[in-house]
Amino acid sequence: MIYPDTLLLIDGKWSAAADGQTLNVVNPATGVVIGRVSRAGTADLERAALAAKRGYDVWRRMPAWDRARVMARAATLVRERADRIARVMTHEQGKPISESKNEVLRAAEAIDWFAEEAKRSYGQMIPPRGDGVANLVTHEPIGPVAAFTPWNFPVNQLVKKVAAALAAGCSIIAKAPEETPASPAELMRAFVDAGAPAGAIGLVFGVPAEISEYLIAHPVIRKISFTGSTVVGRHLAVLAGQRTKPITLELGGHAPVLIFDDADIERATKILAASKFRNAGQVCISPTRFIVQEKSFDRFLRGFVNAAKDLKVGDGAVEGTEMGPLANERRAPVLEALIQDAVSRGGTLRTGGKRIGNKGFFFEPTVLSEVPTDARILNEEPFGPVAIINRFADYDSAITEANRTPYGLSAYAFTGSAGTMARLGKDVECGMLTINHVGFGPPEFPFGGVKDSGYGTEGGSEGISAYQTTKLVTQIAPA
Ligand code: NAD
Repeated sequence: MIYPDTLLLIDGKWSAAADGQTLNVVNPATGVVIGRVSRAGTADLERAALAAKRGYDVWRRMPAWDRARVMARAATLVRERADRIARVMTHEQGKPISESKNEVLRAAEAIDWFAEEAKRSYGQMIPPRGDGVANLVTHEPIGPVAAFTPWNFPVNQLVKKVAAALAAGCSIIAKAPEETPASPAELMRAFVDAGAPAGAIGLVFGVPAEISEYLIAHPVIRKISFTGSTVVGRHLAVLAGQRTKPITLELGGHAPVLIFDDADIERATKILAASKFRNAGQVCISPTRFIVQEKSFDRFLRGFVNAAKDLKVGDGAVEGTEMGPLANERRAPVLEALIQDAVSRGGTLRTGGKRIGNKGFFFEPTVLSEVPTDARILNEEPFGPVAIINRFADYDSAITEANRTPYGLSAYAFTGSAGTMARLGKDVECGMLTINHVGFGPPEFPFGGVKDSGYGTEGGSEGISAYQTTKLVTQIAPA
């Protein structure tokens, strides 16, 4: 396919960087450069910030119903263009085309859902203490937003921020991922073509640290939202804190999966193996630390290893591929080092463990078992196609292990007991827990973590509040 070069979106127009700089984009299935993305410099960022201010002044004054209509049109365009956007995404990111298509259609759903929410951003009236007094509480858009999104879900990570910010009445400048720029650009194009006013949305690429430092400090920007690693998130939180700007952080995870003896083990194995290797495990909510009750351990491990061995790994653009390459070359050595460390500490490598060949960034679906908890892989987010399967004896030790790491994003459990389900809901330290199915992701669900996984929520009605401020107006009508 012909892969498009990606420009910057500033003030409603697509343009190259002022100094003409670009970065290469590589197809992770081949390692070959397939295109270029414009690299914004300071002059471009300044233009984008000033346009975001003007765009905000227009967009926030539009009635919520009109904003919702523009958004709904964008959702329709995304659906109409889904096949093409999915092909672009697979070429730059690597995931199988069916996963890309699903991501794009989910993005259209998210836009529709937030468009409807825009109409329901109600305030409240507080009962007065005196005759003639009216106390109004309203939710106002917080102002122009700077958003930073990663490469694992190039469209989905962006749409959660853009749709919520627009629904709230904010303008937004996104720095989308340089590794996978064209599919997020197609998402933004749908908003432009749907009639979003100039400056209501902007899209830039470049050197991430330069862009975040510039935009977070810029007086126009009133809110920051970041999805990515905990280390970078902490750094951006400091930059935002120095300017008294709120930040939403959706960071890493190390999801525990608790499988009890009373669960349907075969069903759990099937569901979890599919979920683990989706997007080659490069998912912040990927099930990773499998903790299986003693009697079911061997059966679960056998089934999971077989599923990993059966996976068809290949170019995501080829029909029938079940797992594509890693999105970046830099992840393979990181994964190999984590796996070697686990084995050197006594863990057992059941299948996989290394990069496949040297063309493209393919990695074997990997299963480790009986890994000691001081191994790096049980403390650092692997962010790849690696499952670690250990055993537990009783409920309390399972909870201790589930809550052991500083992460607290998602958690999974499989059990046949309603009593255990109820206890899990209270005892697992996480932002999201799914029991007996894999149920995260729809736009109406809040999405976010606790502890080192970040703070704030994307999605759900809480997702819009992240882009609003609360204002009180208390008044007495003139006599
Ligand atoms: P990284 O820490 O280098 O980058 C993570 C993301 O942050 C990238 O999108 C990058 O462009 C951006 N980034 C980096 N420095 C930045 C800065 N100073 N300002 C603004 N943005 C910045 O890691 P990586 O190698 O790209 O990815 C690996 C790790 O990132 C994983 O281990 C995982 O923890 C995390 N990650 C998390 C998610 C998620 O969905 N939460 C997505 C992608 C990556």
